Amino acid sequence: MKPVVALVGRPNVGKSTLFNRITKSRDAIVADFAGLTRDRHYGDARLGSREFIVIDTGGFEPDKPSGVVAEMAKQTKQAVAEADAVVFVVDMRNGVSGQDHDIARYLRQCNKRVFLAVNKAEGMADSPLLAEFHELGIGEPHPISSAHGQGIRSLLEAVLETFDFGDEDEAESEEEAANRPIRLAVAGRPNVGKSTLINTWLGEERLVAFDMPGTTRDAISVPFERLGQKFELIDTAGLRRKGKVFEAIEKFSVVKTLQAIADANVVLLLVDAMQGVSEQDAHIAGYVLDSGRAVVIAINKWDAVDGYQREMVERSIAQRLAFLKFAPILHISALKRQGLGPLWKAIADAHASATRKMPTPVLTRLLHEAVEHQAPKRAGHFRPKLRYAHQGGMNPPVVVVHGNSLEHVTDSYKRFLEGRIRDHFKLVGTPLRIEMKSSH
Ligand code: GDP
Ligand code: GDP
Repeated sequence: MKPVVALVGRPNVGKSTLFNRITKSRDAIVADFAGLTRDRHYGDARLGSREFIVIDTGGFEPDKPSGVVAEMAKQTKQAVAEADAVVFVVDMRNGVSGQDHDIARYLRQCNKRVFLAVNKAEGMADSPLLAEFHELGIGEPHPISSAHGQGIRSLLEAVLETFDFGDEDEAESEEEAANRPIRLAVAGRPNVGKSTLINTWLGEERLVAFDMPGTTRDAISVPFERLGQKFELIDTAGLRRKGKVFEAIEKFSVVKTLQAIADANVVLLLVDAMQGVSEQDAHIAGYVLDSGRAVVIAINKWDAVDGYQREMVERSIAQRLAFLKFAPILHISALKRQGLGPLWKAIADAHASATRKMPTPVLTRLLHEAVEHQAPKRAGHFRPKLRYAHQGGMNPPVVVVHGNSLEHVTDSYKRFLEGRIRDHFKLVGTPLRIEMKSSH
């Protein structure tokens, strides 16, 4: 499971700037999708092949100035409770403040691994002023500059070193991969019908439940079979297993949702037909898009709405989840057990698409055909030359295009390529990423 790293510190030390820098690469991918709302306080990040989740406690704006301290304390405590490690951010230019001491005192007794990041230290990494921060009793100060991107890698190395990411190069045979169950996460805000749906499924199927040992969090996964296909239901945010049935719990946890999504091959996003797409649905959908997982959208409680409401919910999906337009949309009733057959098929198709093999010769032929049909635009003196393509990954599928001057390939041309590749390989329910690799 992805470790969770919280950024804490008093206002204005640069937490949000650091957050943006750490999560930047992911955001850039999705920045131009209209309608994508996101909770700016949680983000996916990666260092090499090690993936983790970052929580930011900066950027909040309390109503009253007097509320700042209380709000900061609340946010800090929440974030620390959810985190596996904490980065305490302080300001090199301001030196150690009383508030820093207060936070340090709290962090010292919270039993988490805490790392001290001294921000705004551009050009001052060797300054003797750095030693002053030892007095916080948090350990070695790491000088960084969030604004300029300095020292951040070595800070993250120190933080991530303490986590076990398993054997990253673990190779898996094709047969093993084919036999592996489809890991499925059911996401959606409280009351959308997650536990009803899951209990309906599990009531129908042979159920073998087990608790997975060896993880710090109490992860639960439930394996089951459907029409010869093995599935593994991932412990889903907002649910708790009680004996053989799942029940909804009051508290909705963003971190749990993120972890379930990260752990899944396919995410089933449930929308309530009676409510339409809420802000929270859109947040969750944003995380799903970031994760690159396959997605199926199911509108639940279809039994309970009339024609007008049906039209409204369809419209709210078209508007607010436009960035997930690769995802199929199904209509179901978990309560009345309607539409569940097509739902299984959609989930299996999405998984098959996400793990489709795309051989280099086929991709390269598609590339050449696309260029013949419509060549990429010249940019000044440069005419991008697309030479060949290979598959760079699965779930999400990644196509790596090789050639020259590829940095001048426009986004609209990439979407054109994406469309042709999708059509050919019949990709449904999965994002497809296209990366350009110029040789010069
Ligand atoms: P937060 O309240 O802790 O989230 O702080 P912000 O990220 O909003 O940053 C507060 C201010 O510090 C902004 O004006 C940033 O531009 C500035 N800042 C952030 N990081 C750096 C840095 O590395 N160097 C300098 N000089 N300024 C920075
Ligand atoms: P969860 O919080 O997402 O796990 O939601 P629940 O499964 O607890 O469902 C919340 C409420 O919606 C319960 O009262 C369910 O009976 C009801 N519900 C769930 N699915 C359906 C459905 O397909 N149709 C109707 N009419 N009600 C449903």
